[in-house]
Amino acid sequence: MFGFKQKSSKDNQEHVLAKSLFDEKTKSDIILNAIDDGVVLIDANKIIQSCNPAAATITGWAQKDAIGVQYDSVIKLVNDKNEAYQPIENPFEKIYQSLATVRDNHANIVTNNNAIKAADIAVTPLLDQQKNITGAVAIIRDVTSEREAESQRAEFISTASHEMRTPVAAIEGYLALALNDKVANIDQKAREYLEKAHSSTQHLGKLFQDLLTSAKAEDGRLQNHPVVVEMGAYLEQLTEDLRFAAQKKGLNMEYLIGADGQQKTNNVTNAKVVRPLYYCHIDPDRLREVITNLFDNAAKYTDTGTISIGIAGDDKVVQIRVQDTGQGIPADDISHLFEKFYRVDTSATRTVGGTGLGLFICRKIIELYNGRIWVESQLNKGSTFYINLPRLGNEKAQQLKSQEESLANTVGALQ
Ligand code: ADP
Repeated sequence: MFGFKQKSSKDNQEHVLAKSLFDEKTKSDIILNAIDDGVVLIDANKIIQSCNPAAATITGWAQKDAIGVQYDSVIKLVNDKNEAYQPIENPFEKIYQSLATVRDNHANIVTNNNAIKAADIAVTPLLDQQKNITGAVAIIRDVTSEREAESQRAEFISTASHEMRTPVAAIEGYLALALNDKVANIDQKAREYLEKAHSSTQHLGKLFQDLLTSAKAEDGRLQNHPVVVEMGAYLEQLTEDLRFAAQKKGLNMEYLIGADGQQKTNNVTNAKVVRPLYYCHIDPDRLREVITNLFDNAAKYTDTGTISIGIAGDDKVVQIRVQDTGQGIPADDISHLFEKFYRVDTSATRTVGGTGLGLFICRKIIELYNGRIWVESQLNKGSTFYINLPRLGNEKAQQLKSQEESLANTVGALQ
């Protein structure tokens, strides 16, 4: 009797445990089956161990067929040009570097029946105590309709701003004529009104131009012809080109070599300055837009002092900086600065015209070259905008340059 009672209690415990495990599994199955996002679990060998119904719908693979298969046969990722992802851009591979969640908001999945779906993906590695990856969980969201709506919106903005630029340019032209003493006679009051109208029209023209550029940047239609550029000579020339505009505002302009900025090229130490060759693969016209925009901002928001353009770098990175001694940027605004239409709202900035699109466009252009742009700033002391671009080794640069030259010769011979 006693023995039977003991056995029964153990049985009971096992039963309770099994039931609770079963309940837990059922609960997690219910959750996984109910959520709209695809959830895929892969093991250390990148084999799919589990996948929920939403993942099956997104990829077009039946759950039972997907399980036991290498992940990249089921989740085939391509970029906007329909080219397969290289390991370096694939979030499932990037987790081996980051050991943390990797998100990709611009992925596309080729489904089992060769349709393309726009997807947002987040892959989180599963780590053991030694930080070895033992598997990963991917959350996949089908954003095809959102991306279509976004691209239609960008298309609308782009067409509308393109169409509106022409009449605005005409109005600006006529206002300039009316203000020209040689062709029109107007009294002082009329001149004041027309000057205001002229400057507002110029602002409107700039807004349409920026809207057009940002719409193009968003849907990948920005013209871009990258070539090998030696950044040192390029930036020094650009600094010279901008010097006059700085001086017009009573500001000094200097070009600095090295991270510490000790080596200036506009003073007597000029001849002794060591100039490393910093090659990048970029479109010089696009980068000029970026640097000019940073310079224009520096000049707009600085009353006295110096604007410096600097270059530094290491084996892998070329770092450009545009530094000013102006009003600085409040800490709370810094993380939003590169968003569309963001402008710092202080009495000082309110009096200075702008569209809030400049830095957004800068970021989009720098991202074209896998670069990064950010700012460090101190209120009432000044701001430094940094750009990191991938550096081309000298050998690789020469190789690409000679390819560019032979292509140019072939095109020349054909003309
Ligand atoms: P905007 O056309 O308004 O200048 P941007 O996108 O170029 O648009 O800049 C966004 C905001 O960032 C500006 O409105 C300004 O408040 C702030 N900002 C940018 N550069 C500087 C700078 N060098 N110094 C202080 N504030 C700056």
